[in-house]
Amino acid sequence: MPELPEVETVKRTLNELVKGKQIENVTVRLARIIQRPDDTMAFAHMLAGHTIESVERRGKFLRILLDGLVLVSHLRMEGRYGLHGSDEPLDKHTHVIFHFTDGTELRYTDVRQFGTMHLFQPGEDLSLPPLNKLGEEPLEPSFTPERFREIVSGKSTKIKSLLLNQEYVVGIGNIYVDESLHRAGIHPEDSPKALSREQLDKLHHAIVSTLTEAVNAGGSSVKSYVNGQGESGTYQQQLLIYGRKDQPCAVCGTLIEKSVVGGRGTHYCPSCQRVSTVLAR
Ligand SMILES: [Zn+2]
Repeated sequence: MPELPEVETVKRTLNELVKGKQIENVTVRLARIIQRPDDTMAFAHMLAGHTIESVERRGKFLRILLDGLVLVSHLRMEGRYGLHGSDEPLDKHTHVIFHFTDGTELRYTDVRQFGTMHLFQPGEDLSLPPLNKLGEEPLEPSFTPERFREIVSGKSTKIKSLLLNQEYVVGIGNIYVDESLHRAGIHPEDSPKALSREQLDKLHHAIVSTLTEAVNAGGSSVKSYVNGQGESGTYQQQLLIYGRKDQPCAVCGTLIEKSVVGGRGTHYCPSCQRVSTVLAR
């Protein structure tokens, strides 16, 4: 599933590809992608004639800002966008087509069909589902070490589960949570209550630096992720823990283990990431 760095990369490429293009009409070939409004005909009718002004990101969601509308899109497992000429053959997994007045079209393709689109009036989208309960953006200046300590303080859930919960911090999924915890030397099942201030500050720094480096590398191409121009990211080559079960830890050489935490496959180094049992605060 694309996480913050991958969605950020798609956002950047979409800004290069479709900013300023006017939608002539929209074809919806799979109704279930369209979550709002209920009627796919209304969805297409509302978008016709509108121009894409910019593409932004909130957590793992794309916010496509048009003149007078906001389209919120989640790629879920394998959704992807691509710009095509209208004469190019259609992929059978292309479910939504935005036809532009210049003869090009933005195609949304999704083999797994889990992706979603919600259409809003400007100003509505951030206060309604699915964006209304999202937490802190980890790459914004407001995500300070102090803010991070506030978010996690008093929580008794496992630290990995807390970081995956989009109501606290957005954009982190299974890849970057494992990388961040490894970088900070924290066991994924630790309770935030058992972590010292120093450990939390280290974890905050690990989250920000891991996500920043991954954004700079164009994201990780694990499974089928590509950006809006069909290009793969390269950060998967820098992943130190995710997907490396039974390989030596890059820090200490101990073999990396894989377990299940909160229902998610979890990679960790049993030497670098020992369980914290001392209540340090
Ligand atoms: Zn290690």
